[in-house]
Amino acid sequence: MTFDLPDVRGTLTFDKPLDGLTWMRVGGPADILFQPADVDDLVAFLSALDPAVPVFPMGVGSNLIVRDGGIRGVVIRLGRGFNSIEIGEKVVAGAAALDAHVARKAAAEGLDLTFLRTIPGSIGGAVCMNAGCYGTYVADVLESVDVVHRDGTRETLVTAALNLQYRQSDLPEGTVVVSATFAASKTEATVLEQRMADQLAKRDETQPTKDRTAGSTFRNPAGFSSTGQADDTHELKAWKVIDEAGMRGARNGGAVMNEMHSNFLTNAGGASAADLEDLGEAVRKKVYDTQRITLQWEIKRVGEPARDVNKE
Ligand SMILES: Cc1cc2nc3c(=O)[nH]c(=O)nc-3n(C[C@H](O)[C@H](O)[C@H](O)COP(=O)(O)OP(=O)(O)OC[C@H]3O[C@@H](n4cnc5c(N)ncnc54)[C@H](O)[C@@H]3O)c2cc1C
Repeated sequence: MTFDLPDVRGTLTFDKPLDGLTWMRVGGPADILFQPADVDDLVAFLSALDPAVPVFPMGVGSNLIVRDGGIRGVVIRLGRGFNSIEIGEKVVAGAAALDAHVARKAAAEGLDLTFLRTIPGSIGGAVCMNAGCYGTYVADVLESVDVVHRDGTRETLVTAALNLQYRQSDLPEGTVVVSATFAASKTEATVLEQRMADQLAKRDETQPTKDRTAGSTFRNPAGFSSTGQADDTHELKAWKVIDEAGMRGARNGGAVMNEMHSNFLTNAGGASAADLEDLGEAVRKKVYDTQRITLQWEIKRVGEPARDVNKE
């Protein structure tokens, strides 16, 4: 894809491999990777960019499989100019700030965003995915987000405008979240610190936190309300139906359904994005064939498959 690019103060990198920017360590190149210096730089770039060029904002890639052929157009990854964390009555965090840092800084001031402590993403990704765990979700504490739309216009959106649902939002395509404002309840800092320590220990006990994964691969088949709260009327868990289909530990090259947590698709070494995605599809098929349950991907799969040179 060829197109003219506006002048920027940040960094433009051509043909940038994305494998090193995702937790799974897979993925082909972005035509262009843009790392804006600050919000004004981002606004100027998007205002001047040919509207036909696709734009994909990414966070730290903890919920992504980037396919082996990479991403056409411009991938935007926010960095230093977007990672401030301001704590007052509210918590205002830049979209590039890591969830764990936000949780810790808020806790030190007695503000409870502890649920973010063990989620390995950035605030932009947390908003887009309505991230959550231990019964709290972004939707429960988010007041508003500042965004830059694909045409370069800035807007503040209140939470209701995002229509946050279980692991999804209505953010328009190409819209970049630049910061988020949270209203957190007050609790003593020592209590919050202990809670975070307990959550970290629990994670390490139950999930392969050191492996190359993107967290839960599939949504739980049922049992969630609009904000992602557990719904007692349904008991289905993705890991359980995967186990019942005999797919715990299933392999495809270097791709494995994790032995420790069967809903964690893992790059155990040398897997391509296609190996991972194909294994995920094989799991979906086996679960459907054996239980008539359709698993839905929670991991976002983006970009194009590798080109098959033999067919050209
Ligand atoms: C070990 C492990 C455990 C996990 N546990 C949990 C968990 O308990 N709960 C949970 O909810 N998730 C969990 N996840 C998944 C993942 O961490 C979250 O979905 C996280 O919010 C993704 O953030 P990210 O910055 O990595 O986003 P990415 O993975 O980079 O992107 C995810 C989506 O967000 C969009 N996005 C990212 N930044 C922006 C931005 N600035 N503006 C607009 N859109 C943006 C991308 O376009 C993409 O659609 C886990 C992942 C791992 C690897």
